[in-house]
Amino acid sequence: MQDHFIHIKEVALKNNCPVCFNNDGLYLSFKQRIVNTKFYNSITREIKHELACKTCNSPIYPVQWTDDIEQVFEYHKKAFTPKKATVKLKTASWILIATLLLILVSIISLMLYQKL
Ligand SMILES: [Zn+2]
Repeated sequence: MQDHFIHIKEVALKNNCPVCFNNDGLYLSFKQRIVNTKFYNSITREIKHELACKTCNSPIYPVQWTDDIEQVFEYHKKAFTPKKATVKLKTASWILIATLLLILVSIISLMLYQKL
């Protein structure tokens, strides 16, 4: 099973970086979890947010956030529309479903046949 996050959106924040105090380096990115298995491909509802500063190249963890960052984050979180959660079955699943149906049909026919 492959599990990864895809990048959906990135917004530049005008806040000061808590690490280098620069005010044009902060970027908030939204990522959404994707699950990829042999049988299906799915976009989940799980969202991950990451705040990082491109000026000093540091990830900014929530414990370092100032009230201002918190407010801006809440605002962007509300404005963000995630991709629709979907599940797409792959060929392997369809083959499995078809096989199971075939077995089921065979069993039913066999039972009917025995009753006659
Ligand atoms: Zn910085």
